[in-house]
Amino acid sequence: MKASHFDYVRVRSIQDAVRVMADSDGEARYLAGGQSLIPALNFRLDRPGLLIDLNAVPALSGIRREGDHIVIGALTRHAEVERHPLIAAHLPLLAEAVRHVAHAAIRNRGTFGGSLALADPSAEMPACALALRAVIQAQGPEGPRNIPVDDFFEGSYATALAPGELLTEVHIPLPDPAARHGFAELTRRRGDYAMAGLALIVGPQERVVWFGVADRPLRDPAAEAALAEGPLTAAAAALEGVEVWGDLHNASETKTHLARVMLRRTLERMT
Ligand code: FAD
Repeated sequence: MKASHFDYVRVRSIQDAVRVMADSDGEARYLAGGQSLIPALNFRLDRPGLLIDLNAVPALSGIRREGDHIVIGALTRHAEVERHPLIAAHLPLLAEAVRHVAHAAIRNRGTFGGSLALADPSAEMPACALALRAVIQAQGPEGPRNIPVDDFFEGSYATALAPGELLTEVHIPLPDPAARHGFAELTRRRGDYAMAGLALIVGPQERVVWFGVADRPLRDPAAEAALAEGPLTAAAAALEGVEVWGDLHNASETKTHLARVMLRRTLERMT
C-alpha cells in the first residue's frame, strides 16, 4: 500500500514548526526520521493532511553539556547518540542501549526525540530516559515547558505532549559518579523490538525500569527496594503486582519469568 495524499512543508525553525502545526487544525504530523511515521502512512494507519518536516531545523539537533546535564536535541539521530563522546563518557547506559535500536540503517535516520514522542512500549530509549531521570522540553503555541520523565509516558504510544506540541530537547542529569548501569533485552532476532527489556541504574538514585512488559516503560519500586539484598531477592521481588503483557510468542507468565531471570543475571554480572 501507499500513503494517502498529504501536503508537505519543510520548516526552518522551532517557531515555524509550532505555528504551522497550530494552523493545521490537527491535520498535521511532525516528520523527524520517518522510520515509524512513514510506515504508518504507507499502511494507512494514519492519514494526516500535512507533514511538517523538522529536518532543516538546526536548533533541534546535537548533543551538548550544560552544567550538570547532558542535553540531547530531539532530532539527534540514534547513530549520533551511539558515537558521541559525551554520551560515552557520562551516559554509558544510553551508549549501550542505543546499539539495540533496530539496525544501523534505521539508526542513521531515526531520532532520539522521535522515539520518545512515539512512546512505543517496547522501545529502548524511553526506558533509558526513565532510568536516567530525564526532563523533556516541549514547545507549543503557549511557549516552552518542561515535563519530568516520570510524568511523560502515559500509555501505549501516549505521552504528556499536548496535541501538536513539539518535543524540542531532552535534559539528562549527569549520574552520580558512583552509579553503575545495566542493560539487557530479549529479542527473537537482533534488532527487533524487545519482548522484555531492562534498563538499570544501581548505586545512588537507583532505578529498575522495564520495557516491553506493559503499556509503557515501567519503574519497579519493589525490585528497587530489594536491590540491596542481592540479585536473587531483587529478581524474586521484580514485577510484583504488575500485569505483564503477553505477546504473540510469549504468555504473560513466561515474560515475567524471563524478566526476573534477566534482572538476576544482569545484577550478577555487575557484582
Ligand atoms: P518519526 O517516524 O519521524 O515520527 C514518529 C512519531 O513521532 C510521529 O507521530 C511524529 O509526528 C512524532 N514525532 C517525531 N519527532 C517529534 C518531535 N520532535 N516532537 C513531537 N512529535 C514528534 N525503535 C526502537 O526503539 N527499537 C527497535 O528495536 C526498533 N526497531 C525498528 C525496526 C524497524 C524495521 C523500523 C522501521 C523501526 C524501528 N524502530 C525501533 C523505530 C526507530 O527507532 C524510530 O527511530 C523511532 O521509532 C521514531 O523515530 P523517528 O525519528 O523515525 O520518528
